[in-house]
Amino acid sequence: MTKYVYSFGSKKTDGRADMKNLLGGKGANLAEMSLLGIPVPAGFTITTDCCNDCFFNKSRFPQGMEEQVQKALKAVENEMGMKYGDPDNCLLISCRSGARSSMPGMMETVLNIGLCSRTIPGLIKRTGNERFVYDSYRRLITMYSDVVMEKAEGIEPQEGKGIRAQLERIMDELKKSKGYKNDTELTVSDLKYLCSEYTKKIKQVLGSPFPDDHMKQLWGGIGAVFKSWNGKKAAAYRRIEGIPDSWGTATNVQAMVFGNMGETSATGVAFTRNPATGENKFYGEWLPNAQGEDVVAGIRTPNPINEATKMEQNRHLPSLEKAMPKLYKQLHEIERKLEKHYSDMQDIEFTIQEGKLYMLQTRVGKRTGTAALNMAMDMLKEKLINEPAAVMRLKPEQLDELLHPIVDPAAEKNAAIIARGLPAGPGGANGHIVFKAEDAVEWEKKGKKVILVREETNPEDVAGMRAAEGILTARGGMTSHAALVARGWGKCCIVGAGAIHVDSISKKMTVNGKTYREGDVLTLNGTKGYVYEGRLNMIDATENVNFKAFMKLVDRQRRLGVRANADTPADAATARNFGAEGIGLFRTEHMFYGENSEKPLFLLRQMILSSTLEERKSALDKLFPHVKSNIKATMKVMQGLPVTFRLLDPPLHEFIPQDEPQQKELAESLGIDVKEVVRRGELLHEVNPMMGHRGVRLGITYPEVSEMQIRAIFEAAAELIKEKIKAMPEIMIPVTCDVNEIKVQKKIIERNYKEVITKFNLKKIDYLTGTMIEIPRACLLADKMAEEAQFFSFGTNDLTQMGFGFSRDDIGAFLPGYLDKKILKADPFQTIDQEGIGQLIEMGVTKGRSTKKDLKVGICGEQGGEPASVKFCFKVGLNYVSCSPYRVPIARLAAAQASIEGAAVSKKPVKKAPSKKKAAAKKK
Ligand code: ADP
Ligand code: MG
Ligand code: MG
Repeated sequence: MTKYVYSFGSKKTDGRADMKNLLGGKGANLAEMSLLGIPVPAGFTITTDCCNDCFFNKSRFPQGMEEQVQKALKAVENEMGMKYGDPDNCLLISCRSGARSSMPGMMETVLNIGLCSRTIPGLIKRTGNERFVYDSYRRLITMYSDVVMEKAEGIEPQEGKGIRAQLERIMDELKKSKGYKNDTELTVSDLKYLCSEYTKKIKQVLGSPFPDDHMKQLWGGIGAVFKSWNGKKAAAYRRIEGIPDSWGTATNVQAMVFGNMGETSATGVAFTRNPATGENKFYGEWLPNAQGEDVVAGIRTPNPINEATKMEQNRHLPSLEKAMPKLYKQLHEIERKLEKHYSDMQDIEFTIQEGKLYMLQTRVGKRTGTAALNMAMDMLKEKLINEPAAVMRLKPEQLDELLHPIVDPAAEKNAAIIARGLPAGPGGANGHIVFKAEDAVEWEKKGKKVILVREETNPEDVAGMRAAEGILTARGGMTSHAALVARGWGKCCIVGAGAIHVDSISKKMTVNGKTYREGDVLTLNGTKGYVYEGRLNMIDATENVNFKAFMKLVDRQRRLGVRANADTPADAATARNFGAEGIGLFRTEHMFYGENSEKPLFLLRQMILSSTLEERKSALDKLFPHVKSNIKATMKVMQGLPVTFRLLDPPLHEFIPQDEPQQKELAESLGIDVKEVVRRGELLHEVNPMMGHRGVRLGITYPEVSEMQIRAIFEAAAELIKEKIKAMPEIMIPVTCDVNEIKVQKKIIERNYKEVITKFNLKKIDYLTGTMIEIPRACLLADKMAEEAQFFSFGTNDLTQMGFGFSRDDIGAFLPGYLDKKILKADPFQTIDQEGIGQLIEMGVTKGRSTKKDLKVGICGEQGGEPASVKFCFKVGLNYVSCSPYRVPIARLAAAQASIEGAAVSKKPVKKAPSKKKAAAKKK
């Protein structure tokens, strides 16, 4: 017979903290607290398996479960000295949800179950507190009708029409007519009146009566908690957090204790340390004469738990420390014990019933990134945890918070959101809105902070994007141009805010009928995707002394290298600052965009539109010094750390000017007609440019284009060496699908190498030649590719595009649907598709190293800074990941955690091979 029910309490406890999968977090920790001798009202947990079996059984409880519940209930009755449904001495219970990982507020709980006409008179007699009984009763009716009779039945009322809202309206009207401010002012007769009005309303709205039967209430409560797993809220939350639907929730049935029995009773929630700042002080809130959710629900302003954590707004309120010193001391001791036992900050719930303290919940507390960092470092100093544990305490994404200025959460609380979009670039920004990239540049020059608002951005906007504090677009997804660029720079960015209508011609935008013009001020929260009107206060999160110390710990645990994708000296400097160990991707074409690009771009265009080899060579000669100085400046910043230069990658037509004045200028310089410029531009047009004339294919058709870049790389390195500055260039050939492509380019590389060392009279320049691996064929033939390449770098953007056959510029039309319908688990352009594309990567690594054992392998796609992808790269044996500079710390942390997790796995006894002695003994 399956065991569905696990008891907890002072007499008999079946569960433990490490049984979260079966008992849910709440149940496992209630069991653990019982085992620690902490006062917990007795109860039992019905397993998550039972939840899943119920769904499988079309909502019927599985066989044997009901008897087990009856038996466990008996044990609770014995321990509490009361009996469920007994007219003279009734036990009341709560039914509480609790999944493996906490889903705050997403599932349901019902309190005071067991109150009915059979038990009410006896309870009044026993407690001598009629007010308390009717207060509990009206709460039961409210919660039960909402959770069991409405939500669990799948009824979806309109906004404000839910039964709970309707009942609360009755109470509000009563309070208003009597002039009460607080619920505590309600008298016995008020509460009686409410209970009878409530039951009438329920019958009228839901069509069935509130059950006046304790057994019906019990089974209804248990079933409803299970069903709340499939409630709308919970399902949506799981989608966001990536929690599988198959986990299910447990139901905890627990003896009620009452914080609403008068002034010697109370309820509260607390954290063993401050969850916002990490400060090592017991921190929390409490209310006298209150039950359960009152503290969090904001019905009354809660009181501070102690004197040390009082703040301006609650200084006048009584602390538990002063009001109930003995109980506070006991709570404080329990709180210390729990934190020590779990070696982590705990989030606890407690209730005091007539001077006796009970613990109702403990769990590892959620915290901000700043708090997580400060706590990890403090706990390490306190020797509560060791170094690897400290490194595991921050989620890599939480580092984001520490690297960008953020909108002050206090200011955000009171501000109205005018639009929502996708959180493409983290952090916060405020400033005057402008609608054109040029305007952003202009305004910034005048010292004004601006937000660039566009329908969507394109490469021509980059200068304006750079100049802006934040970027807001009405269209586009997480991998849209704006999003990629913003993330690369660590810039606050919201994309796809569909409610916004942008009119860049008359320089205004409208949202829900309201118009905003150039110069108006907006605030963006790029971490959440919220847009606010006006200027909200910003706070700088980087000034944390613990950050550097923490990153030192991280690097001590880390074995995977971390580089950055950077194309300018400024980006390179940022990357080094964040701890990059080299540049894994320098895009040559980047020097033709943005600031100071006019001249080189003009020369590049001349080169592209040349019709003869002579014309092209003369343009390339003029372009050469620009390319060389750009390359040199970046290598100089990197001081001998490796820099991977990717030869020209994009299709050439991307650079062709579309506006007349520029076409005209170009025509003049080439001595041809404007029409001819247009015609030559049109010749470059491709049906499918992503798979067209780009990457190494350019270098095959126009070897002189490769030659110019290669020459620039070697001469830049040579000049640096002459200046006694170390240089370590790595030349990377993009978009290859065959080893012969590498061979052809390598000839050019080797010839130029020889010429340059002769010219500069050098013995050698340290350099490597390698290739991107971004076409599936290159993975299949990786053993051949490795014959000529000294390193591979997986270009996972293209590899994903070509592996899936998804054009990454067009996924907006179908990928959201794929995610909604759960055809794909995640956007493969954001996190490596380990199942599919991952196989190509593994194959590439294995085959490549079968030819060259010491083949260096890295990744330079967008996913290189995404924690799950970083962990995957470590697992398949890559040497390094490369990502945008602002993601370097995140990648470092993810890499360190991958090492720690890897070590933990390999320590598992199951994996250990039997020792030789034992094996030998067995043979005998
Ligand atoms: P959530 O997971 O939403 O916090 P809980 O199951 O913890 O829901 O319960 C909601 C509130 O009711 C909490 O404040 C909790 O402490 C309180 N509560 C739950 N069960 C009992 C009980 N048996 N006695 C007293 N209070 C309870
Ligand atoms: Mg709770
Ligand atoms: Mg590519």
